[in-house]
Amino acid sequence: MSVELDRLLKQYPILKDVMRKQPVLWKNPDYVVTPHYPVRGVGEDIIFSAIERFKRFRNLIKIAFPETNGTILSPISTLTHMKSELELIYQMPISGMLLLKRDDLLPVAGSIKARGGFHEVLAFAEKLAFSHGILQSIDDDYVTLLSKEARKLFQQYTISVGSTGNLGLSIGMIGSTLGFQVVVHMSADAKEWKKELLRKNGVKVVEYQSDYTIAVENARNEAANNDNTYFVDDENSSLLFAGYAAAGIEVKKQFDELGIKVDAEHPLFVYLPCGVGGGPGGVTFGLKQQFGEHVHCFFAEPLNSPCMLTGLVTKLHHKVSVEDLLLDNKTEADGLAVGRPSGFVGPIMEELLAGIYTLKDEEWLKLMYILYESQDIFLEPSALAGMKGPVLLNSTSHLQGVKAATHLVWATGGSMFPKDLRNDFLERGKLL
Ligand SMILES: *Cc1c(COP(=O)(O)O)cnc(C)c1O
Repeated sequence: MSVELDRLLKQYPILKDVMRKQPVLWKNPDYVVTPHYPVRGVGEDIIFSAIERFKRFRNLIKIAFPETNGTILSPISTLTHMKSELELIYQMPISGMLLLKRDDLLPVAGSIKARGGFHEVLAFAEKLAFSHGILQSIDDDYVTLLSKEARKLFQQYTISVGSTGNLGLSIGMIGSTLGFQVVVHMSADAKEWKKELLRKNGVKVVEYQSDYTIAVENARNEAANNDNTYFVDDENSSLLFAGYAAAGIEVKKQFDELGIKVDAEHPLFVYLPCGVGGGPGGVTFGLKQQFGEHVHCFFAEPLNSPCMLTGLVTKLHHKVSVEDLLLDNKTEADGLAVGRPSGFVGPIMEELLAGIYTLKDEEWLKLMYILYESQDIFLEPSALAGMKGPVLLNSTSHLQGVKAATHLVWATGGSMFPKDLRNDFLERGKLL
């Protein structure tokens, strides 16, 4: 569906800058600082049920993926050197502490997608196991889902997903481990190494010359014509969303352990790279539930793919795409190369999200290099979008009168990134 561009530009002048590829910082006028759950019909119960499900699967995960202790958790790093570098480069002091949430280190999938993707596949496996008598009660030992009998059942089912790369990787790894057949529909942006890794694990990869929206649509249509195919709908899934949202309680626990206070005098600012919106939206949903009025979440999007921004500004959500603004959705940040936002997440973010900013590809190449040099941390391109946040927020009213803010940059992926491909990116970043 095409929208009337003239009308949109008149009604929402910020879209003129978006169209001209000017970096913007958009403050959400409908932001509800103190949230009330349920938000747009989605209650906090989905978070607790995800946490309970992860607990039930803990022993299974520990056995299936010996490199984990059964939990899908990521650490938090303090970025002292990086903070000094940012202050130097952007010529401004950054008030408060700079922290990095290391979803790049999440086990098995190496990205934020381990949270949502694992949760949805585990939920599907659990449901099948109950309906076929392999599980009788949620108190059963879930390790039985690794039995021959369970495997024979799962092999009869195909899990299908459309992805720019990492969601496919996450679903592919957990799905194939449980015995499911997995088909990943990869958009043209997906990197070769992600496809290879999946094929090596027995996952079928369908490649597209087109973008993510088309890959998802094809996957959805194919699944609709096939009874034994379960489609993970990245544009609409509440199970994915709940898996991401479980991160809120995780951060709260970690902050308690680290002695980091979040209150009126110590507000928390969180910066999340956004593609279709499920990952960052779910995390925002979980963080707002834990920290309420004292946390403010911002999304970061590429200049060419500001889909959530366009959807939220116009409130048209999935009914509008960046192509409607004549943007080409081309970006080096493969995980963020999404032209149309989630129609499920967008309306929830109308209330929960503080704002969105956009930035140039060159900028995160530069940030990638600086982070690597100053802290010895390598992140994939998409994962650096949040790093500009503390600099941008510093000069806004959000931080006026605030003594000790905490800035939490969400590193969404990177540990699986092949070593031999890193240098090329780092070299380019160094030149900028
Ligand atoms: C998928 C992804 C994102 C964005 O998540 P969405 O759910 O698509 O908004 C950000 N960074 C990385 C590395 C990703 O893989």
